[in-house]
Amino acid sequence: MKVLVPVKRVVDYNVKVRVKSDQTGVDIANVKMSMNPFDEIAVEEATRLKEKGTVTEIVAVSCGVAQCQETLRTAMAIGADRGILVQTDEELQPLAVAKILKALADKEQPQLIILGKQAIDDDANQTGQMLAALLGWPQATFASKVEVADGKATVTREVDGGLETLALTLPAIVTTDLRLNEPRYVTLPNIMKAKKKQLDTVSPADLGVDAAPRLKTLKVTEPPSRSAGIKVPDVAALVDKLKNEAKVV
Ligand code: AMP
Repeated sequence: MKVLVPVKRVVDYNVKVRVKSDQTGVDIANVKMSMNPFDEIAVEEATRLKEKGTVTEIVAVSCGVAQCQETLRTAMAIGADRGILVQTDEELQPLAVAKILKALADKEQPQLIILGKQAIDDDANQTGQMLAALLGWPQATFASKVEVADGKATVTREVDGGLETLALTLPAIVTTDLRLNEPRYVTLPNIMKAKKKQLDTVSPADLGVDAAPRLKTLKVTEPPSRSAGIKVPDVAALVDKLKNEAKVV
């Protein structure tokens, strides 16, 4: 069984992002970039399924600039067998990525596509759902446990007040939540091995996809900065402020 795992190159989660002065977006010049953390969990899950013998091939896909190759190499160091870079310098919105992945799914015929539940840069949480709709496949989002057997995936999801378990007929889409697994540490020998794995490059046009943005960002701004706290002399003053300034009691 073949699994497709889309991996996005995003600003590293440890970086404090800064908004550009012209408010058109965030500054990514000279900023550390890494694989989206939820996608690392997706690659790890696919690798564990392969180690169990359920999966035979893992194909990692990244859409974006040439440097996404590094993200694909990381995916291959974790356990992906090969990588596909869908290269473009244009901005890619979730719908465009979903269309690209649909075209690749038609070509590669995977039985399972495991995406992250959201990319930590745009926080869109849309690509997996849009892809499921475009392919007409069942989907289980925010997975905290995945089991695959006999042409079916059984997926547990954490919902308010408990766990929900879904049975999906393959082919299907799964998106990962934080508690699905803890990705392994990438070792140097595996990084070296990953360098020799196959990496193909195509363009959205090669796949027949119009990846032009459909949404226009009007502006991006910093959140308002928090004002400093104050000390109150006694409980009466605190209650007075809570009542008359904060208006919370
Ligand atoms: P989003 O809908 O943007 O929050 O992204 C959800 C998931 O879609 C990510 O965790 C990735 O698995 C996948 N994805 C989004 N954008 C890309 C991209 N440019 N390249 C590869 N995968 C992507």
